[in-house]
Amino acid sequence: MKNSRKSILQHVKRVVVKIGSGVLTKKDGLNLGLINALSEDICYLMEKRGLEIILVSSGAIASGLKKMGLSQRPQSISQQQALAAVGQSSLMLAYEQVFRSHGRKVAQILVTRDDLTNRKRYLNTRNTLFTLLNWKVIPIINENDTVVVDEIKFGDNDNLSAMIANLTSAHLVINLTTIDGLFDDDPRLNSNAHLISLVEKVTSKIEKKASSIPGALGKGGMGSKVKAAKDVAICGIPTIISNGLKKNIMRKIFQGEEEGTLFLPQPTPMRSRKHWIAFTKSPKGRIMVDRGAEDALIKNGKSLLPSGILAVYGKFNLGNSVMIINREEKSLAVGLVNYHSTDVEKIMGQKSSSIEKILGYKHYDEVVHKDNLVLMNNL
Ligand code: GLU
Repeated sequence: MKNSRKSILQHVKRVVVKIGSGVLTKKDGLNLGLINALSEDICYLMEKRGLEIILVSSGAIASGLKKMGLSQRPQSISQQQALAAVGQSSLMLAYEQVFRSHGRKVAQILVTRDDLTNRKRYLNTRNTLFTLLNWKVIPIINENDTVVVDEIKFGDNDNLSAMIANLTSAHLVINLTTIDGLFDDDPRLNSNAHLISLVEKVTSKIEKKASSIPGALGKGGMGSKVKAAKDVAICGIPTIISNGLKKNIMRKIFQGEEEGTLFLPQPTPMRSRKHWIAFTKSPKGRIMVDRGAEDALIKNGKSLLPSGILAVYGKFNLGNSVMIINREEKSLAVGLVNYHSTDVEKIMGQKSSSIEKILGYKHYDEVVHKDNLVLMNNL
């Protein structure tokens, strides 16, 4: 186990470090002492090990709460958005100051799921990040809470950090939270709970266990951290979930100490574009297929043709992501669709050769091409 940690860390250069709200804030606002200590470690590792660090930082809403003298997160979305706006500037000011004192520059990047769903903006974000890394500037990323509402949100910064790790082809994600890692029970309630130091594969049992361990200040809880670790493992990227409140935690991790929980990457990683299809885009509708199409997709790796489609649910447009389900409503695959939902309804059950006659035009023979399809059993 020690060896696997050490050998993983040996090859790490680009690291996404996600820092949770609970780590960054204390009773009276931002925890400046901790932010300073963490930045010192980060600068040390950049210098000594040549690491490239990308921070995904929560803490805007939590810091806004303290700034406005509120004791708990308000229910209303618009108030949370306003708090994020109030807190984000203090958060960046704190980072700017501490990193400057260590001779480093930072840059603020605020993104939404909508931005990364759009392939062009996704690639633009990637180019900007790579330029910043080239300049040795530390990008500090947060969700642009001010402009998003629930259905278009990443939901939590654990998910956002997984997207960023995939987008930047990072070698490791370090998720810093307020507990030591993944436990077999909630350590705050059960003193006999054990830390799980290695997860080879995130099974549904592990996911279920984790989702019963809630977070405190932020939104995620352990469930969303484990889900994010699973998402990046699929891309071949390992994750370490660890306690950001521990002294010199970043240095300890890079010394190969058994800190936190290490999630191993999957041996055959999914290509970045397929990962983007599977995880960045949220499905706009569902297409039900017959047994023949199910076999063609799953057993033979084929595209989805109109002939195998039984029903269409929801409204979607060309290029949107759709979930493909069988008659038992089991999710089979997610893919990018080539036709509008109303057109799929017209051509379903028909041969590809009659698409033009029915619609008066034909973009493609396939409703979803196999290159744009990710099977659920690969997830
Ligand atoms: N974006 C939110 C903030 O900065 C936090 C979301 C999260 O912690 O998952 O306050």
